[in-house]
Amino acid sequence: MKTYNDLDFGVTCIDTAHIRKEMVAAYLIEDDGEACFVDTGTHLTVPRLLEVLDKKNISYHDVKHIILTHIHLDHAGGAGQLLKHLPNATIFVHKRGVRHLIDPTKLRDGVIGVYGELFFKQCLGDLLPIPEERIVTANDGDEISLGNRVLKFINTPGHAKHHVCIWDEKSRGIFSGDTLGVSYREFDTENGEFIFPPTTPIQFDPETWINTIDSLLELKPERAYLAHYCMIPFHPHIANKLKNEINNFSAIAQKLASSKNRHKEITLALLDHLLSSTKKHGVALDQNVQSKLFKGDLGICARGLEVWLDQQ
Ligand SMILES: [Zn+2]
Repeated sequence: MKTYNDLDFGVTCIDTAHIRKEMVAAYLIEDDGEACFVDTGTHLTVPRLLEVLDKKNISYHDVKHIILTHIHLDHAGGAGQLLKHLPNATIFVHKRGVRHLIDPTKLRDGVIGVYGELFFKQCLGDLLPIPEERIVTANDGDEISLGNRVLKFINTPGHAKHHVCIWDEKSRGIFSGDTLGVSYREFDTENGEFIFPPTTPIQFDPETWINTIDSLLELKPERAYLAHYCMIPFHPHIANKLKNEINNFSAIAQKLASSKNRHKEITLALLDHLLSSTKKHGVALDQNVQSKLFKGDLGICARGLEVWLDQQ
């Protein structure tokens, strides 16, 4: 399995191989002798990040920042383990994430509560606490330097309240974590990229999310470095598709709000919806293969929608 992909502008997409190949990315940015990770994958996927540094002959001492788009564990679970190898790196995270990195007990218990102990052990591995002095709050509008480059943090609530995106003027790109949607390359057609919103528990907020997408569009981004999966050219029509899907997912959940077997029915309805959308999009892949590719996401999306329903 290929570990990484060199993109333009000194950006590398690293396949963390969490759950399956090409599902969860972490990024490495290099600029003038300095390097920075955006997201880390899980505790178990850290060796792949270090392997990329080794293959590229980047000294562990030259990694200056580890930026976490948000603290969901497929993105940030490896931060504590990675930091141990990078003596000069500082972690940047939204202010709501700081205390959970210092003491990950609540995060761990929350994940085990939703996904179970077995999933935690097998797919996430562990969660190490991070010393407070190595964490810096990423406030909206703050800028940090990397070599000759400036990276700017933008608060991006909607998927989660603890989400930040990173604006990279040099590539006119947004490192978007989960905010600009999920788009797997298997669904690319001549109609372009297929995209849907990860409505993960427990802070999905459709209105806020749509406002966030609109505010990111004001930057006129040319590319989005998605966590799931990889870089896509970003145009207003992709943003519109994503906003429509946020509304569609919410409407599906609302329609099934009082059904007996709510979780199962929402999950199936989301799958039906996506399969009919991919058909319109011209995806030729066998529907069973498509279902397998969506499977990892839809149960989680349904749970997030249910939490949102319960808060109404
Ligand atoms: Zn997330």
